Amino acid sequence: MSRKVRADVDLSAIRHNYRLACAQAPNARAVAIVKANAYGHGAIEVARALESEVPAFGVACIEEALELRAAGIAKPIMLLEGCFDAGELPEVDAQGFWPAVHSEHQLVALEQAQMASVFPVFLKVDTGMHRLGFAPSDVPAAVSRLKALDCVSEVILMTHFARSDEPEQSATKHQIECFEALAGSEGLAACLSNSAAIMAWPGAHRNWLRPGMMLYGATPFMAPQPVADQLLPAMTLSTEIIAIRDVAPGEAVGYGGTFVCERPTRIGTIAMGYGDGYPRHAKNGTPVVVKGRRVPVAGRVSMDMMTIDLTDLPEVEVGDRVELFGKQLPVSEVALWCDTIPYTMVTCLTPRVPRFYS
Ligand code: PLP
Repeated sequence: MSRKVRADVDLSAIRHNYRLACAQAPNARAVAIVKANAYGHGAIEVARALESEVPAFGVACIEEALELRAAGIAKPIMLLEGCFDAGELPEVDAQGFWPAVHSEHQLVALEQAQMASVFPVFLKVDTGMHRLGFAPSDVPAAVSRLKALDCVSEVILMTHFARSDEPEQSATKHQIECFEALAGSEGLAACLSNSAAIMAWPGAHRNWLRPGMMLYGATPFMAPQPVADQLLPAMTLSTEIIAIRDVAPGEAVGYGGTFVCERPTRIGTIAMGYGDGYPRHAKNGTPVVVKGRRVPVAGRVSMDMMTIDLTDLPEVEVGDRVELFGKQLPVSEVALWCDTIPYTMVTCLTPRVPRFYS
């Protein structure tokens, strides 16, 4: 390998984080969310690492579910957004996928399909996010229509939170109250909680959980949180220094000259850029870790390289490794410097970054 960029994925950390999610709601069952290539960690490897523990996996679309099946993953797979057209229903039937149904057209497609198998269906209710789902007033009719179908073993009511990562906000409380007030929901199982709700909203636990980000060890919260503080980071993104130069005071570094040296400055160039998925929006000052010490990004991130200020670390040499985020530097902290969230930091890594598993 000529370019020393790598993402090391610690599968035992993912198992620890999954168990931490389950421990918050011992009476619930947790569907492990592995959509978007397991948030960039590798859906097949993550699914293999968790398969013996989980009741099911959750993905965004049928292509992601089929990729897991092709790799030999046998557990049920939930389609979080259901089927995009009726043509996908034969695969649902054949592969034992669990669809969510969020709209009338999906419900009609299911009613008109000839299905041989029997599976649970998650009926998605719009309790306030206003993205997907049936209006609460339409839920009783939708439940009865689903219950009338031979292929539906169970109707599980589902909703998704817009602001569960903001524990002080009342929006989640209102969504929970809306869910609890649903007519026609008596006796039905419920599936509400994403990672933030699993950690901070015990009133939303009910029967099924849907942990995503927390499996990968990053907190969705802006502030410390007792459960999130126990998560173990799963991915460490690193590279190495490929050049070092001394730059005089007053000289600017990189595209756009956004970093101007205020003192004699030792600039290290590292093999990592937005072509690898590292955010171009990383500000001057964004930390990276070299030899256990934090040093700042100095200059704009380019496609294949970025520059860091090594002035305070004179012993560093070409070839030394640099951690961009991971075990020594929380991805959520780096995300703040990049005006983004940890979700995009890991999900947007490109195929150019090889993943290594332990
Ligand atoms: N459930 C649904 C419907 C989602 O769209 C997502 C993620 O976007 C999740 C669960 C998992 O959310 P999180 O990664 O915040 O745990």
